[in-house]
Amino acid sequence: MGAAGTHGGRRDPRKDAHEVDKLAKRLRRQVGEAIADFGLIEHGDRVMVCLSGGKDSYALLDVLLALRDKAPVGFELIAVNLDQKQPGFPAEVLPRYLQGRGVPYRIVEQDTYSVVKRVVPEGKTMCALCSRLRRGVLYRVASELGATKIALGHHRDDILATFFLNLFHGGKLKAMPPKLVSDDGRHVVIRPLAYVKEDDLAAYAEAKAFPLIPCTLCGSQENLQRRQMRAMLREWQERHPGRVESILRALSDVRATHLMDRRLFDFAGLRAERRAGTGADAAFEPRELGEPLFAEDTDA
Ligand code: SF4
Repeated sequence: MGAAGTHGGRRDPRKDAHEVDKLAKRLRRQVGEAIADFGLIEHGDRVMVCLSGGKDSYALLDVLLALRDKAPVGFELIAVNLDQKQPGFPAEVLPRYLQGRGVPYRIVEQDTYSVVKRVVPEGKTMCALCSRLRRGVLYRVASELGATKIALGHHRDDILATFFLNLFHGGKLKAMPPKLVSDDGRHVVIRPLAYVKEDDLAAYAEAKAFPLIPCTLCGSQENLQRRQMRAMLREWQERHPGRVESILRALSDVRATHLMDRRLFDFAGLRAERRAGTGADAAFEPRELGEPLFAEDTDA
């Protein structure tokens, strides 16, 4: 037996199908957990799924469609793509895919590309302005569609890369939340892939043969610092198994008493009291032996 899915150098279709089935179950479980843990989707929601044509947003839509058909709560999905008029954008790909899947959708055409090109100096990364403009359009469309939630395809590794960007370059303990309210208070943005790792999304997109649209059409490069964060996480993933999962877990197990933010904890007002056993003395708490980081290893 060779590598997973191969037999004597040839692929074993049954094993391949089994692996894809396991992967699909894992994605559904992790998305379901994120939805439950953070209250991302409720009965009666109209969820606008932002579809860029990349692997992450295709997978997000696919998993949400599967959950919608099984979920005990009733919610609607509507896919939205913003055609930003980048040169060579294959405008027919997403409508064809969405019609084939029977998904209600809206394609919004807005030439943010020209604006970004005009405003950002040559050679500078355009992503910050591009994303801001795109967000503005998507918020407007969400209002027009009466969407109660806006679902984005950011995943675990995006969240961690943002966390380290803020830590290393922003001097803040801050990541990308699974749920947030827009600055104007009118929209709820959700990230149902918060527990899903990027490699799983890439494998899923390949297995499902999603008609991917390349993300390099605009000619911009991802910000160098963000690229460095991704490379760092990837290296940790390979050299220190479990480390990335431990960091993600840490984001949901925050001890304000053991940090230094005086707005979160009243250090000045701290007094002795006759009570024992809180574990406050231990600065480092290793994970219990055998305690799973996530339910990752419990695939059926
Ligand atoms: S890669 Fe291009 S399309 Fe994507 S955010 Fe950056 S500028 Fe915009």
